[in-house]
Amino acid sequence: MPFEPAFSIWAAALVGLQFGSFLNVLVWRLPRMLEREWQAASTAVGPKGEAVFNLSSPRSHCPHCQTPLRWRDLVPVLSFLCLRGRCAHCDTPISARYPLVELAVGLLWGLCAWRWGVSLTALAWAGFFTTLLALALIDADTLLLPDALTLPLMWAGLIAANLGWIGLPLADAVWGAVAGYLSLWVVYQVFLRLTGKHGLGGGDFKLLAALGAWLGWQVLPWLVLGASVMGLVLAAVFMLRGRYQKDQHIPLGPSLALAGAVLAIWQPGAVGLV
Ligand SMILES: [Zn+2]
Repeated sequence: MPFEPAFSIWAAALVGLQFGSFLNVLVWRLPRMLEREWQAASTAVGPKGEAVFNLSSPRSHCPHCQTPLRWRDLVPVLSFLCLRGRCAHCDTPISARYPLVELAVGLLWGLCAWRWGVSLTALAWAGFFTTLLALALIDADTLLLPDALTLPLMWAGLIAANLGWIGLPLADAVWGAVAGYLSLWVVYQVFLRLTGKHGLGGGDFKLLAALGAWLGWQVLPWLVLGASVMGLVLAAVFMLRGRYQKDQHIPLGPSLALAGAVLAIWQPGAVGLV
């Protein structure tokens, strides 16, 4: 491999590691920011007097002893290894999920640079995969798919299509977004009428709209089929392990995100499926 591309791939992977580190912060804080907003909206008392809580404040700290982290505790993956997975101050174990997420995003960015070179196309897809990972983790943790991520993801797909970055005709992207939203909305309405239950969350419609915008309306049947199969497999695993309670909600977001990521890499159009 010539020096230049190899160098770019490593550089992209390093940038990805840093984004992975930020993604950990986002996945933890965004649902809590929304919860605070809802609480503030539901009570007459505003959030005045409460400590500021957003993506940049307070500074990253150990959730156990609250000690702020030093810059050398914030280096993706390496800090975790140097600290042997424990807080430098109070020795509480740190979840291995943090370095794994950082590695995953680093790997995704490296793969995008390898596949598309250092280009806007690579940047667009790297952003797409990173946002999907954030949504999958937040939905798995909290059953939420925040509008703050699903809606910009959809707009970004439409814009990337219009600018010719992702090789998708704009019309396919627009109809992908429309059909993606409507198809799950219809399923939701039918389910609600038949059973009186909310089988899906509004976030699921918006996530499928975003995926439709990035991948085109043609892949929607494959997306829904793939996500449903994955959702059923997940439910079966939960049941077998005795962790499924009656009426427990199994989030669809992670399955949709994974199916979307797989279809983005393995484009069915390229093998004549659609
Ligand atoms: Zn600590």
